Amino acid sequence: MDKTGWSKSVKARMAVVMTLSGILPIVICHVIVFSNSGGPIQDFLRYIPLYIPLLLILGVFNWFLADIILRPITQLLSSTTRLANMDMRTRLDVDNHEPIETMELRRSFNKLLNRLEESLNIQCQFVADASHELRTPLTSIQGYTKLLMRRGPNIDANLLAEALQTISDESGRLIRLVSDLLQLARADAGQAIINQQEVVDMRDVLQSVGDTVTVIAPEQIEVKFIIPATPIWVFADADRLKQVFLNLTNNAIKATQAGGKVTVTLRASNNEAIIRVIDTGIGIAPADQQRIFDRFYRVERSRTRSRLYGGGTGLGLAIALTIIKAHGGQIELESELNKGSTFTVKLPVTEKSTPPTVAPARSPRPQDKE
Ligand code: ADP
Repeated sequence: MDKTGWSKSVKARMAVVMTLSGILPIVICHVIVFSNSGGPIQDFLRYIPLYIPLLLILGVFNWFLADIILRPITQLLSSTTRLANMDMRTRLDVDNHEPIETMELRRSFNKLLNRLEESLNIQCQFVADASHELRTPLTSIQGYTKLLMRRGPNIDANLLAEALQTISDESGRLIRLVSDLLQLARADAGQAIINQQEVVDMRDVLQSVGDTVTVIAPEQIEVKFIIPATPIWVFADADRLKQVFLNLTNNAIKATQAGGKVTVTLRASNNEAIIRVIDTGIGIAPADQQRIFDRFYRVERSRTRSRLYGGGTGLGLAIALTIIKAHGGQIELESELNKGSTFTVKLPVTEKSTPPTVAPARSPRPQDKE
């Protein structure tokens, strides 16, 4: 150990402190006894050299004592050092006979390793899922591109149209997937998933969603927006909120059979804006409800019809949850198989009840699609 090593060593510091605290009472007693005897100062100084061997003996003794006291820590240190070169699944042995402090340290260390392993597993699963999701459209694009190259200019017009349509659909899917992944990666890296927030009227957000949904929803499904007459202000990133409700409404439409209904309602209660997306669709089984907000989790594909986007990415609800949480809100799900689902979003309403200086432009609300 070099010079700095010695001065930084807990054992050396402990030995020095213990030696000094051992010698101090002896010196004090010596001074008191000497001052009471009233002898000349030379008599006192004569005894000073005796302190040198005493210091040495105390120093060596305390060095060994410090070694005994610190042994559990040095053992812990060597165990953790060994662990660093071992498998991620290995854990520190916890001996019930060792001091409580180091035993607790070993337990906390093991807990930390458990959490690390868990998040590493999640990351690995995420990468595997993402790769799989990326590979599927890429394989399709590659297949059709090769076919076009093989057939050359003599290709059948129908086949050419089909190939181009698939390539276009799958590229769109890739773009959506990559932008969804990017949003989640940003949120994971601690970057804000929401941009500039401002006081917005929830009615405007839902109206904008309604305008989009009305255009793409099939005729056979009744889509209704029930919106109050008075504004409900929230402090939010309007674009991100629109993304959430577009996703929830599109999912509801995809899950609803012809003749079914999708209703979006907005109301304020207990300082919260409560938005419900209700459908009379296929519903979600209790086991799926537990995992529906997980990344890439999709309910058995055959059960939902991919009408609007030619298949989702399985990331929509994970992103929706992240966005709503970033706004200080929450999403709840109630569902019954073959009866329908209700996604309830709760967002804190802003204290500022006065509308923003520039009043938002209003166009007719999609109160009722009929
Ligand atoms: P995607 O982008 O694939 O739609 P989501 O994360 O939005 O992914 O949805 C995850 C899964 O939840 C999908 O399999 C979808 O079918 C199912 N789901 C979402 N909303 C509903 C709903 N209202 N009714 C039934 N199933 C739903």
